[in-house]
Amino acid sequence: MNKYLIFFAVLLFSSISFSQGLKYNGAFEQGNLVIAKGNNIEWAWLNEVELKIDNAKVFTFGFDAKETGNKILKVKHDDGKVSLKKFKLPARKYRVQRINNTKQQFSETPDSLKQRITKEREISNIAKSEIGKTDTAFYNSGFMLPIKGGRISSVFGSQRVLNGVYKNMHNGIDIAVPRGTPVFAMADGIVRLNADDFYYAGNHIILDHGQGLNSLYLHLSESFVKENQHVKKGDIIGRVGTTGRSTGPHLHWGVQWYSKRVDPAQILTMKFR
Ligand SMILES: [Zn+2]
Repeated sequence: MNKYLIFFAVLLFSSISFSQGLKYNGAFEQGNLVIAKGNNIEWAWLNEVELKIDNAKVFTFGFDAKETGNKILKVKHDDGKVSLKKFKLPARKYRVQRINNTKQQFSETPDSLKQRITKEREISNIAKSEIGKTDTAFYNSGFMLPIKGGRISSVFGSQRVLNGVYKNMHNGIDIAVPRGTPVFAMADGIVRLNADDFYYAGNHIILDHGQGLNSLYLHLSESFVKENQHVKKGDIIGRVGTTGRSTGPHLHWGVQWYSKRVDPAQILTMKFR
């Protein structure tokens, strides 16, 4: 785990850049979050998306784990100048994780469950539609690991091959710890979803950290928060469990910018002031 973090810290220090008084925290790479700060920003667009800007002139954006294509970041400064940054995201290599001999019910979704899953997805989508409506950068007091100790049992981006069949990539980090281990909010934010017993995610929480940044905590045994409640970084929001589709007690921790999947390990390397 330490080696993993050091690796990303090295990546980060090679990636802080300044342009037109703008400071970027985080590299422009697949699966990364970037936090930008400048004192004279009027507006900013990343391709067709207008970015939310906080009073402190902080804004953020992220790139999905598999995102490709030509990108343009356009920033208007209050002296009337517009700075353009054109770039492409280099392809990132992810691990392949082969899982064999799992029970059939874990590798295929039975038809009888499809209705339930569709309904749960609708509930989740309604909650997620609230994300990104606020300009406030709640995340601006920094990030922390939501678990004390533990080991990372599955990294972000690994391609799962279940009984020889290619499945969705792993879109978070799994931290294996005993059932009941406290789960902390990774940053300040608002509770958007506090869901019970979903088929895949089990009991889970989604926090909105402002400007589209959100975090997910899956398979909990219990939750201590209510929807629309404000939480502070480090608050205990629940406890580790193995609810939903899970084979043992662990926290699945996901981070997203809107629906773009970002590597939680990368955001932990970010320095604030
Ligand atoms: Zn996971």
